[in-house]
Amino acid sequence: MEKKINIAIDGYSSCGKGTLAKALAKALGYVFIDSGAMYRAVTLHMLRAGVDVNDETAVSDALNALQIGFVNNADNLSEVTLNGVSVESEIRNIEVAAKVSEVAKIQSVRTRMVALQRAIGQSKGVVMDGRDIGTVVFPEAELKLFMTASPAVRAQRRFDELIAKGDDVTLESIAENLQHRDLIDASRENSPLTLTNDYRVLDNSDLSKEAQFDLAMDWAKKAIAGN
Ligand code: C5P
Repeated sequence: MEKKINIAIDGYSSCGKGTLAKALAKALGYVFIDSGAMYRAVTLHMLRAGVDVNDETAVSDALNALQIGFVNNADNLSEVTLNGVSVESEIRNIEVAAKVSEVAKIQSVRTRMVALQRAIGQSKGVVMDGRDIGTVVFPEAELKLFMTASPAVRAQRRFDELIAKGDDVTLESIAENLQHRDLIDASRENSPLTLTNDYRVLDNSDLSKEAQFDLAMDWAKKAIAGN
């Protein structure tokens, strides 16, 4: 049987990490895990419970009462669950996006999520996207991709996505949110987004989805073959 590897995809917000990760997982028959969805689900819980996300003790206490997991939907794609209920759609709103980076910088939150992520990756055959997958979650991942795209391209993509969903947002508010999250995600003390030299960098500002997929798939095949 072909050797299975873990693929880590990290990068700034709205670089298309999820799109590529899903396509690779489908082509390879691997499991796709959106680690950002886990931090978003924790954030949704805090907002619903009225917990002040800047109060680390309150967040840590509330964390003990929640369960994060995944279930497969009708299209065989994993959806994140909060206390057993899929919250895939609720976690994409702007309220969650506005607070998620504050929640994600809290060490107790990261420790819980990383433990879950590592357990999922134990038997290999996982494509996981996030900010610290290649540095902290799977430092031994056989393939690490770091995705980037210009801020304007990223804001436009996320804006189009939310408008298609029927959300009432402006391009400016999206651009501001991306900038806000990028800054916190790259400068936080705990597991910041960091480009180390074992990543392959993929700038997709001017790449089609197909070209990007072909490139990544080529790297994946080489990594599976052990090259
Ligand atoms: O990937 P996505 O944009 O959905 O992630 C939402 C937020 O979750 C990020 O802005 C970041 O603050 C946090 N995150 C993280 N570590 C990860 C994945 C996401 O801190 N591995």
